[in-house]
Amino acid sequence: MVTRPSGSAPGRPAPKGVRSARVVVVGAGAIGLAVALQLRRAGMDGVIVVDRNASPGMGSTSRANGGVRVQFTTSVNIAFSQFTIENLRRLHETASAQVGFRAVGYLFLTGTDAGEIALRRSWELQRSLGVDVRWLSPGEVIEIAPFVKVDGLSAATFCGADGIIDPHGVASALWTACRSLETTFLLDTEVLGVAAGPPALVRTSSGDIETEFVVNAAGPFARQLAATAGIDLPVISRRRNLACTESVAGIPAVIPMCVDNDTGVLIRREGAGVLIGFSDPADPPSVDTAFDPSFLDAVAARIGNRFPFLEDVPISPRKCWAGLYPETPDHHAIIDATPGAPWLVQCAGFGGHGIMHSFAAGQAVTELITDGRCSTFDLHPLRLSRFAEPGAVVETAVL
Ligand SMILES: Cc1cc2nc3c(=O)[nH]c(=O)nc-3n(C[C@H](O)[C@H](O)[C@H](O)COP(=O)(O)OP(=O)(O)OC[C@H]3O[C@@H](n4cnc5c(N)ncnc54)[C@H](O)[C@@H]3O)c2cc1C
Repeated sequence: MVTRPSGSAPGRPAPKGVRSARVVVVGAGAIGLAVALQLRRAGMDGVIVVDRNASPGMGSTSRANGGVRVQFTTSVNIAFSQFTIENLRRLHETASAQVGFRAVGYLFLTGTDAGEIALRRSWELQRSLGVDVRWLSPGEVIEIAPFVKVDGLSAATFCGADGIIDPHGVASALWTACRSLETTFLLDTEVLGVAAGPPALVRTSSGDIETEFVVNAAGPFARQLAATAGIDLPVISRRRNLACTESVAGIPAVIPMCVDNDTGVLIRREGAGVLIGFSDPADPPSVDTAFDPSFLDAVAARIGNRFPFLEDVPISPRKCWAGLYPETPDHHAIIDATPGAPWLVQCAGFGGHGIMHSFAAGQAVTELITDGRCSTFDLHPLRLSRFAEPGAVVETAVL
């Protein structure tokens, strides 16, 4: 069911009224949609998803690169990817291929001793968790990706089950699945604040909602939402850019997502061109989603390290865009019933991996709400209190 606030045209106040729900999910990105879907699949009634945009998936979700991979460096992130990729595959099959899943693989490359040690450590962890990741020689890299410059290459890993999806297709398929289970959507509706109860109160631009639980799935704006309840959520958003080249001949039509670990540059096929990503760790916090032209200079300085065939290929100005990564200090998400305010379940801080962790996040939140604890995943590494404790475990495969 989709509800838009009647009479909410500019300049006219929306009619007020108090609704009632069991769970209000704030945010209809990939995370909020997957949370709502898993809640409904578990039989939870009274789920309302609220988003200020006119359609689901118009925030970071619509701006994603579309990669899905199990090649992470911590157990929890690997488990989240395994669970989600399997569910995305299933959704792809049941949603007429709308998810656009293609197992093109992810190839990680390094030419430094430190990079080799780090890659070997994560490869061993991934293998121990049952992931089919291969350790490649330079010759094997050329077989998979003949355009890669292998001079000085010291290590590479490849997982053929990793791949790419269509972010818009994922959002559409999740939305359709939610609606088929009679989830209520309040679109064009801003959440102005949340407050403790019982019942907890969600103040929106189209009236108040009384509820048992609120799920903070507000993506890059999760910190602002939490702040309305007096909670400090350490999620900071940073602008991330992507740029696509004009048509590139002379390389295969299908290539893996190729990641140069030493520069941070990654590439994949996008139509006849090549899509280039690079997340500059020095970028300041921002909520600006305009494409940053200086991104092209940063890429030009790095692309020749492993992908020199792209050095002289023109970028298509129409195919450059940017979006926001909501990041935490250790590059792990926060999934937790807020200590002292368990009615507010945090599900935020997914950085550049929220689509590939969406179903797992939805499952984790569902178990927290329905059982009071999560048995499918060990959520200890994702607890909110960790930021006040020593010994941070940092995810380093941040792309
Ligand atoms: C350039 C780029 C590349 C990326 N590449 C990948 C990738 O390859 N693979 C991958 O898995 N992920 C990738 N990501 C990350 C991915 O897009 C997100 O993590 C994922 O889509 C989950 O987003 P989300 O649901 O948390 O946030 P969003 O999609 O931003 O959804 C949050 C929603 O909350 C709503 N909202 C916020 N505050 C309020 C409020 N107060 N009231 C009402 N509504 C509110 C917003 O309107 C928005 O729709 C990338 C992101 C970017 C920017």
